[in-house]
Amino acid sequence: LAEKLQNTLSKLKGKGKVSEKDVAEAMREVKLALLEADVNFKVVKDFINKVKERAVGSDVLESLTPGQQIIKIVNEELTALMGTTQSKLTFASKPPTIIMMVGLQGAGKTTTSGKLAKMLKKQGKRPLLVAGDIYRPAAIKQLQVVGGQVDVPVFTLGDQTSPVEIAKAALEHANKNGNDVMLVDTAGRLHIDEALMEELQNIKSAIKPHEILLVVDSMTGQDAVNVAQHFNDQLGVDGVILTKLDGDTRGGAALSVRAVTNKPIKFAALGEKLDDLEPFHPDRMASRILGMGDVLSLIEKAQANFDEKKAKELEKKIKSQSFTFEDFLDQLQQVQSMGPISQLLEMIPGAGKQLKGMEVNEKELLHIQAIIQSMTREERINPSVLNASRRKRIAAGSGTSVQQVNRLIKQFEQTRKMMKQFTDMEKSMKKGGKFK
Ligand code: GDP
Ligand code: MG
Repeated sequence: LAEKLQNTLSKLKGKGKVSEKDVAEAMREVKLALLEADVNFKVVKDFINKVKERAVGSDVLESLTPGQQIIKIVNEELTALMGTTQSKLTFASKPPTIIMMVGLQGAGKTTTSGKLAKMLKKQGKRPLLVAGDIYRPAAIKQLQVVGGQVDVPVFTLGDQTSPVEIAKAALEHANKNGNDVMLVDTAGRLHIDEALMEELQNIKSAIKPHEILLVVDSMTGQDAVNVAQHFNDQLGVDGVILTKLDGDTRGGAALSVRAVTNKPIKFAALGEKLDDLEPFHPDRMASRILGMGDVLSLIEKAQANFDEKKAKELEKKIKSQSFTFEDFLDQLQQVQSMGPISQLLEMIPGAGKQLKGMEVNEKELLHIQAIIQSMTREERINPSVLNASRRKRIAAGSGTSVQQVNRLIKQFEQTRKMMKQFTDMEKSMKKGGKFK
């Protein structure tokens, strides 16, 4: 979806002036792209009409950058479609807050329960996970494993007690043990059926959850919308969590689920790891769909991982040219802890497309790391001592070749030189005062 839209819109971007015909043509392509991404037909129609109305009605055609204006409108309307503001969880005034996770089998309820528990724990809450799926083999065990990983207790009565009784007993347990949030993992089915809905309704009336969160697999496209509608009609949901947004189809479901159910998307899950959950930001999702890159997410990710003090120190070192292999290694590890490089690059505006198909060589990074790790401290700090025999030793120690070691040292020296040039330039600019 992103690529399609990007092509269409970049055609407009380049234009100095667009005609009404250009707008119509662009809208036709946007429409096709959305339909192809499995966005609900009615949603697409409303969307296109709204954009057209605004594009033609305003003075877009006369403005200096009409292409960009249209992109702006498309972006704004996409954002509005997914809910303008970010929706938070509602916490009960009298704890525990009861959250019930519902959805089809395989949507990601159990995994997401663990992710949410982890997130809540970080916020200072004392969550309790409740094993309410007694049907799926090993479902309880799965929740226990997840709970263990995030260090959150799991309440279970085994698979011989009814989910309603389990939920009630869990509530009592939470009250007694001071758990202020209770996350009830429930069973799913491959398809919606009466028995499932009845069970969920019974749990609902027994424990009166503050939040019923519907977990939806975003890869299921149009199906996701039907599922969301059913659950909302028959059970009533308070919010939606979209999972598997790390997959290929990132647009469709997000766009229509909100429009069809009118319920906010509260979280987005972007991977199998228990850290891969973030609040859903409609504006960022819109930009992402439009291929502008999710700069804000990237920055947040970077900030969370990159210690600010360290960054300042590094900057000082670069300026004083005392940047060493030691710092280089440190920096590499910081970057790596942010996630796979390819995923990071995707978030940079414009980069996603160019880099598609180009494999980012994570292996090479590992090699570089191994080489630096095979250096002694002295060598890292003062690379000029790296003579031939030392290089040979490092290559052997890191499982690389002397050529690879040479290349890295050369690159490092070039980078250092470049840094020096930059700082010199900055200094002379300050001195000359030309740019005051
Ligand atoms: P449940 O049946 O609804 O409880 O679903 P599970 O939590 O057992 O998840 C089903 C599968 O989807 C598991 O293999 C999870 O690892 C995987 N999964 C869940 N969330 C995500 C996600 O955001 N991204 C990816 N790639 N996989 C996910
Ligand atoms: Mg499950």
